[in-house]
Amino acid sequence: MTAHTSLNGPVAVAVPGKFYLTLHYHSPQAVAIGARVAVTVGRKPHVGVVVAHGAAPANIKLKDIENIIDDAPLFDSATLALLSWAAQYYAHPLGDVVCSALPTLLSAGNPATLSTTKTYHAVNADASTIDQLLNGRAKQQAALYQQLASSKGLDLSQLKQLGHKSAALKPLVERGLVSQREQAVTCPANAQPVAGPTLNQEQADAVAAIQSSQQHQCFVLQGVTGSGKTEVYLQTAQHYLAQNQAVLILVPEIGLTPQFLSRVQQRLAAPITVLHSGLNAKQRKDNWLAAQSGEAKVVIGTRSAVLAPIQNLGLIIVDEEHDAAFKQQEQMRYHARDLAVVRAHQANIPVVLGSATPSGETLANIQRGQYQKLTLRNRATGQAVPTIQAIDLRSQTLKGPLSQQLINRIQHHVAAGNQAMLFLNRRGVAPVLLCHECGWSADCHRCDSRMTLHRGQYKDRLRCHHCDASRAAPQQCESCHSSNLISAGAGTAGLEETLQTLFPEQTVLRVDRDSASTAKQLHAALDKATQGQADILVGTQMLAKGHHFPKLTLVGIIDADAGLYSSDYRATERLAQQVIQVAGRAGRETAGEVFIQTHMPEHPALQALISNGYDGAISSMLEERQASMLPPFSHMALIRISHTRADRAEAFARAVSMLAQQIMPTALVMGPITAPMPRKANRWRYQVLIQCQARSERSQLLNQLVPQADQHKLASGMRWSVDVDPVDFF
Ligand code: ADP
Ligand code: ZN
Ligand code: ZN
Repeated sequence: MTAHTSLNGPVAVAVPGKFYLTLHYHSPQAVAIGARVAVTVGRKPHVGVVVAHGAAPANIKLKDIENIIDDAPLFDSATLALLSWAAQYYAHPLGDVVCSALPTLLSAGNPATLSTTKTYHAVNADASTIDQLLNGRAKQQAALYQQLASSKGLDLSQLKQLGHKSAALKPLVERGLVSQREQAVTCPANAQPVAGPTLNQEQADAVAAIQSSQQHQCFVLQGVTGSGKTEVYLQTAQHYLAQNQAVLILVPEIGLTPQFLSRVQQRLAAPITVLHSGLNAKQRKDNWLAAQSGEAKVVIGTRSAVLAPIQNLGLIIVDEEHDAAFKQQEQMRYHARDLAVVRAHQANIPVVLGSATPSGETLANIQRGQYQKLTLRNRATGQAVPTIQAIDLRSQTLKGPLSQQLINRIQHHVAAGNQAMLFLNRRGVAPVLLCHECGWSADCHRCDSRMTLHRGQYKDRLRCHHCDASRAAPQQCESCHSSNLISAGAGTAGLEETLQTLFPEQTVLRVDRDSASTAKQLHAALDKATQGQADILVGTQMLAKGHHFPKLTLVGIIDADAGLYSSDYRATERLAQQVIQVAGRAGRETAGEVFIQTHMPEHPALQALISNGYDGAISSMLEERQASMLPPFSHMALIRISHTRADRAEAFARAVSMLAQQIMPTALVMGPITAPMPRKANRWRYQVLIQCQARSERSQLLNQLVPQADQHKLASGMRWSVDVDPVDFF
């Protein structure tokens, strides 16, 4: 039965909430699978989605649905299949999965229609007038006219996005060559896409391999930053677009990489839409509908875009596949990269996972022969990849967090007219405020964690990065009342201060969530960095991703030790990825070097990274994980439990743990364990960790465990969640 068949009679409806089975209703009128309906559960009204016809349990008097919201389905059967796969795999109620895949305006029951906007249209004037315009001196007007002539009407913001000026519009309107209309928003297509460079041999081979796959196949495109991966995406995408198929491009974060989006817009002629958290509710609905209706041929989005219905999908690309931002950390804790692979498999189409530093999971899949690896060994611009060296911090006198050796290198590069970038994954002036007399430190009153010192213009503040509590920094020790308070360790702001003192002649630019909290501020800072208006850049993770700074030749990683000392088995992988990503910023146009400051220069992971590069480092990490049966060589689920009373949380955790072991005696069930941070925002936190040999085993366990635990007498007032394939253990 196809989703487009409408039938009346019994229907299964996915409704948000903890319903592990779909609810059944009777539909007096014909309704399609994938359409929204209004129903009541108990007395409460809900918007649900029809997921099946017929198949109601016998002997039950079905309630009528209240109202059919959509004549045509919003979800096609392929998307529903993906959503139900996800619900099963992540042990999450289907109704929640389906309804949260809708933009909020639609899950609230609003009509599935596009918003309207004032649009501009080219008027079909006589040939000589147009000829005069196109060959005349008003080039901007000519370009604008051509743009409008090749699209279905564009609004002002779309025109601006495509690089046109509103000043060019007015004379065209006055001359009657452009008309205005109120119409539904459409996605802009680029009338004059820019041609890409000729591919080098490795790129051409990669494009050919992907295009020639007649069915589902998962390709891993590994190439250092600047090796031309994006070029491969674009030229591969063109192939599918030419066959009128749609392309889905998933990126970790759009706000951080505006350059990526504008590059795709410049290059592809197809209508493009974007789906990410920076959109307002209306835009999100409109863009989602553009993907759903098939109007958009290219959908670029962050993780949730993997769940959007897209007509006639031909190719999926996941850029920076190793990035932890693809993992959803609340509700259904899915991994968008993994769902992209499942989606491509279900649709029988190719998927490309691109990264300079593929994740351990992905590399293991290559080793098992499930994914095909495509490699770009050289930078497209021909520059060598920068060298990486460690700086031993032990028994060195530091200036702030900087060793003399690193200071000398900064001096050297800046004197040569180049840029240096210092990378520190910590915000605030200092992570902790310490009493130099008695050792007291400022702790969060609600968590088992220290407060971070944020230096303000007038007053310093303490902030907890775990619960967001904040308070004014004390002037005196709260234990011995000494006023000898010091800040230990340095964050980005402290580093910025140190650098300004050391290099008074140079411009120091800090980029992190405190200095650039809005997208606009971030763009301004990135522009400044790109144009070389800053000599020394200081930043967090935000600076590491995807940007291209032509003058950057030196990268310093201030503190690698957190990654080396951590008990999380993934910490060294993350460190290796960060080092390579950050290193990728250096020397994109002139040779660069990278220094890593550490107290553990002999750490095997760091040594492997320096002497054998990323591949060497990650393959020895994978060997270790295999020896200890850690993922991806086993399959985990982490159950997090919290309650305001510790005894209740622990009792429930114990019950869950026993239940899990009963259901699946072969599984390794650990817990109750106290969470790494035992108390957060006044709630006591426990965990149960489940480890299985096979995914199917875990799936079976969870799909019995979760509904039973939910009904457990200790479950009331409990907050708990299931994390399948957890990426962190907090
Ligand atoms: P990545 O996505 O791997 O970081 P990009 O695709 O962004 O790499 O390429 C890096 C730079 O090299 C870009 O400026 C791009 O335009 C350029 N480039 C890529 N491929 C080629 C090529 N075959 N010839 C010339 N320049 C190229
Ligand atoms: Zn806190
Ligand atoms: Zn004290």
